[in-house]
Amino acid sequence: MMSEHKIEVALSELSSRQLRARRRRTLGRLPDLEGYLAGSLVEQRRRCGKAGCRCSRGELHGPYVYLSVGKATGRRALVYVPETLADAVRARVALSADAQRLLAEISAINLELLGRRELE
Ligand SMILES: [Zn+2]
Repeated sequence: MMSEHKIEVALSELSSRQLRARRRRTLGRLPDLEGYLAGSLVEQRRRCGKAGCRCSRGELHGPYVYLSVGKATGRRALVYVPETLADAVRARVALSADAQRLLAEISAINLELLGRRELE
C-alpha cells in the first residue's frame, strides 16, 4: 500500500509526455503472456486416511505443491501440482506476478492521464 502511494506521487510529478514514455517502456517490459498463470504456490502436508499409516501417527505425507487460484465466487481453490511440473508452474506464476505489476503501473499512468483529461 505504501509503495502504491509512492508511485502515485511520483507519477503526478511527471509531465504527460514523460508519462506516455514511461507507459511505453512499461509495456515493452511485459513478458510473453502465453504462459500467464495467475495464482500463488503453497505447500501442504497431508494425511492419507489409511489405517495404520505413519501419517496417522503425525508423520504427514508431502509436502505437496498446490496452486492457489481465485474463483469467480471470490473463494480460492487449491489445484494439485505434480512435482515434475512444479518448476514450470513456479516460473509461470512469477511471470504472471511481473505482468500484473506492470499492468497495474500502466493503469496508474492512464489514471493520472485521465485526471489531466489527457488520456490518449
Ligand atoms: Zn498416510
